[in-house]
Amino acid sequence: DLQTLHRILQELDGQGYGGYKRLKGMYDLGDFRLSVDHVQVDPYAPPSKVRAIFTREALALPPGSADSREQRIAAADFLARGFLAAVTARQRGAGGSPRSSRAAPRGRWGHDSGADESRAITAYPCGQEVIERSTVVISGEHVEVRFEVGLPAAGRRVKGRSADRILTKALPEVLLSSLAPGHRDDDALIAHVELYLDQLALRDSLAERDLVAFVGDGAILPRRSGDSALPLERGAVPFESPQSLRVAVDLPSGRRVTGMGVPSGITVIVGGGYHGKSTLLAALSGGVYPHIGGDGREWVLTREDAVAIRAEDGRAVTGVDISPFITGLPTGVDTRAFTTTNASGSTSQAANLVEALETGTSAVLIDEDTSATNFMIRDDRMKRLIPAHKEPITPFVDRVEPMLTQTGVSTVLVAGGSGAFFDVADHVIAMESYQPRDVTREARQIAADTPLADESGTSGVNAREVPPFRARTPRIVQRNSLAPASKSKGSRARGRTEIQVGREHIDLSAVSQLVDPGQTTAIAHVIDQVGAGSGGNVALEQLASEVISRLEREGLDTLGRHAGHPGYLAAPRRQELHGAINRYRGLRLANDGDEEPAS
Ligand code: ADP
Ligand code: MG
Repeated sequence: DLQTLHRILQELDGQGYGGYKRLKGMYDLGDFRLSVDHVQVDPYAPPSKVRAIFTREALALPPGSADSREQRIAAADFLARGFLAAVTARQRGAGGSPRSSRAAPRGRWGHDSGADESRAITAYPCGQEVIERSTVVISGEHVEVRFEVGLPAAGRRVKGRSADRILTKALPEVLLSSLAPGHRDDDALIAHVELYLDQLALRDSLAERDLVAFVGDGAILPRRSGDSALPLERGAVPFESPQSLRVAVDLPSGRRVTGMGVPSGITVIVGGGYHGKSTLLAALSGGVYPHIGGDGREWVLTREDAVAIRAEDGRAVTGVDISPFITGLPTGVDTRAFTTTNASGSTSQAANLVEALETGTSAVLIDEDTSATNFMIRDDRMKRLIPAHKEPITPFVDRVEPMLTQTGVSTVLVAGGSGAFFDVADHVIAMESYQPRDVTREARQIAADTPLADESGTSGVNAREVPPFRARTPRIVQRNSLAPASKSKGSRARGRTEIQVGREHIDLSAVSQLVDPGQTTAIAHVIDQVGAGSGGNVALEQLASEVISRLEREGLDTLGRHAGHPGYLAAPRRQELHGAINRYRGLRLANDGDEEPAS
């Protein structure tokens, strides 16, 4: 209990830093139990991992705010943000900027005692998305808050009294001021949960409305800067849906929202440069996750399984059937099981697209800015100069329709530089000064008035068979390729965009829908668990399904390495889990991806 904690810290004062190991354990501090799960080995090591465990009774969450799994995810998200804000405010109060606290060398805590006590506590970050995170977990009986504490040192000695003030005074203060009934804002909590449930309901209703996405009237799509997720504050033009695409949706809370429904099928976004096309597409791509109130994109929601596709030259590809787009490479390589350590712009984009189909996506999002031109289109002059049998690529403009009819996958595409897609588009939306206009009719008329010289509809490749989007044979992952011999420690995420597996680095910077570093860490842990698992080789789709349903059933904590405290994790989508494994250069398949299924 509290007295034990006081006593231990008193005894440790002035001893070698390693003495802190004794802290490991559980202490009843009255309002909550404090669990010290992992103690840092020295002052410069990553901070110690600590939990505060409240009973549901003590926190008395308002009724209806944490009963279902979805409510609990939203309520936990709310509490995590409250705790983060309280920690940040305390650090500001202590005169330090909250940013510098993470960057500051950890050993500095030894020097100036007032500030180090409020800087010692680190709350995990929260992005603009409401996703399941390991920061706060609400169960039937408990509410657990996970965070880190840099245990203070004077040189390499324990500062026991300072540690005592951190754990028994500063910590209870920030916890209670942000979480305890009477202190937290229950109206805001209820609104937070209600918004999330409405967003899920809207997102889940898209398919039955035959929509790929929804963009609410009044939405603020642009961000403050290229490296910020926060809304543009000045001069943002609110979104206003065109009449012809406007839909109204009634939500569980009783709220009704109106906005633009992006229909299933093939939708092309056109418009002059700098008129907001990419901003709209980026918002759609982020709309697979619900966003917090005030984000501006609260009512931008996209099919949960939608995947943003781009060119990514240099990436590795392992056994992917890109033959619906690319056949007859000059090397004679079989593109039905295409493998390379260094894909070109077009082959990488083809691989990204086919891999997205493998995840079972229902919609792909493509921006001209990040596409390989030769993957997207080919014009008449070029067809005359380079005959079909010398061009391995069947451009997307000729494959987008077969993809829709053969696989049911919709496409939303930004194309400001080419009218080639007018013939195949079901809908054409023009962005003009950041406002959408339905120009489908005009675009159709233009397509009819000015037919493309090549009427074959297959860019002159009709002489050659283009393989259909056949049901692909699952690619079977060699489990042990995920546990390479060069790997002595566990795989590690470095920020949002990189995972280190042994000597290999998986570069995820092109995986734009991986939005949170906690997702990346979670994927790194999954890779380890799969690599260490028994049960033989496994189809990638099956592997991803099993992992995702286990995380939904048992929670993110099952990925944790330290008993009780998983560190900072956030729930990844199956699409990004696939994306990471697919980009791993050490990936080995047990089949080449092209065998007929055993019958
Ligand atoms: P495009 O892809 O059509 O060339 P972008 O989407 O890249 O244009 O947008 C160009 C600029 O306009 C960006 O700086 C973006 O932040 C800004 N912008 C986009 N939408 C809006 C809006 N609704 N209101 C104000 N600025 C916007
Ligand atoms: Mg653009």
